[in-house]
Amino acid sequence: MAENRYISQSELERQKRIADTVYRENSGRDLTFFVETFGCQMNVRDSETIKGELVELGYAEAFSKEEADLILFNTCCVRDHAEKRLMGNIGALKELKDAKPGMIIGICGCMMQQEGMAKKLLKRFPHVSLIFGTNVLYRLPEMLQSVMNGERIAVTDRAEDAIAEGLPQLRDNPRSAFVNIMYGCNNFCSYCIVPYVRGRERSRTPKDIRDEVVSLVKSGITEITLLGQNVNSYGNDGTAQMTFAQLLTYVSDVPGLKRLRFMSSHPKDLNDDVMKAIAALPNVCHHVHLPVQSGNDEVLKKMNRRYTRERYLSIIRKLRETVPDIEFTTDIIVGFPGETEEAFLDTMSLVEEVGFAAAFTFAYSPRQGTVAAKSPDQIPEAVKKRRLQELNALQAKKTVENNQKYLGFEGEVLVEGCDMRGEDAMLYGKYQNFKMVYFPGDPSLMNRYVNVRVLKTNKNSLLGEMIDE
Ligand code: SF4
Repeated sequence: MAENRYISQSELERQKRIADTVYRENSGRDLTFFVETFGCQMNVRDSETIKGELVELGYAEAFSKEEADLILFNTCCVRDHAEKRLMGNIGALKELKDAKPGMIIGICGCMMQQEGMAKKLLKRFPHVSLIFGTNVLYRLPEMLQSVMNGERIAVTDRAEDAIAEGLPQLRDNPRSAFVNIMYGCNNFCSYCIVPYVRGRERSRTPKDIRDEVVSLVKSGITEITLLGQNVNSYGNDGTAQMTFAQLLTYVSDVPGLKRLRFMSSHPKDLNDDVMKAIAALPNVCHHVHLPVQSGNDEVLKKMNRRYTRERYLSIIRKLRETVPDIEFTTDIIVGFPGETEEAFLDTMSLVEEVGFAAAFTFAYSPRQGTVAAKSPDQIPEAVKKRRLQELNALQAKKTVENNQKYLGFEGEVLVEGCDMRGEDAMLYGKYQNFKMVYFPGDPSLMNRYVNVRVLKTNKNSLLGEMIDE
């Protein structure tokens, strides 16, 4: 395995030495941080590493921006309006910075990897002094030291697509954890900015992944979600020497691991071996998030998705044959350039046919630098809006139908939260196949597994009663 795919041990140790220095320099004072995270699970996971590094540097987590010595925005560039929102957030901090000149304001995340973005932000916001991209988290001690020495820096080096193992982490969730199995994406879907900002696919070794899962389970976590932009192409870069199906088998037998999830899956790479693994491995959850994006072959081609409607439907059919209680969720874009009314109706008929448990639906919005953004046949906003409304209405109907089949269902739920708004505390959590259920119960059951029977269904959720712990 090529050594240069990893950040060297000596470099990680150098960062650690700097971390010790930064800590010593500031040990007379309790420094605090506040990290605000936007976007997907990848960013959530990156923020856990950033927070872990900051704790190792001697910082403590603050409850609000106002009381923090360091504020970091971990940004996302996948969705529209993110930039505008970020600008508003940063602008609003100017007064705070004026009142607390020692405060450090930083921005990181995939938006910072966009061409020219870091330069633009440093120029526009003199109160921002630290900008870094997704590939240099391990250099946080060094970057912070430079800022503490009065520099304003932007480190968004794309040459650093190597993997840094063994970074500290601060995880808030005591029951579930995300574990990266790979970084980057090779697919270049024509609407998507991710491959440009997060670089090419790099898989972690099976051993590193399993070791992380073992240590998380030892700490009390029972539900793991394996994360990647396209988990089904795990190992395709030739370094992991294991396919995704083999990885599922390798990780699933970690003692004490009750639920193993994964996301996201690309339909072009979800093969029979993965389907067999889902069916055969007892703790692999019966839920697949399988973004379809469109139900029309022409649009799928323009999106560079490299599967057809029929191929997508055949995966759904096959999985349902072998795993009858499996649930599917998806992502759909309407109003993609060139999407005709017929093409949109193909998406509607696919949604009708599949019966997704839930769908994350979006009106297409161009991302600068992508192929689709340059397409001349953009769809008028009013048409996109109307199609989105029609699609959402259909999905709402399908969600109700999907919920109805759960009347009387009994199964094990991992308790995730407690809603105290009504007269009685309502606990909520998910069955293994991702269906959420609400039921009355004592908040002390948080993070535990209980058996719940569904008594009622309503528009968006299931209501039940606990039958035993
Ligand atoms: S698979 Fe396509 S949509 Fe997903 S991150 Fe890669 S390019 Fe973007």
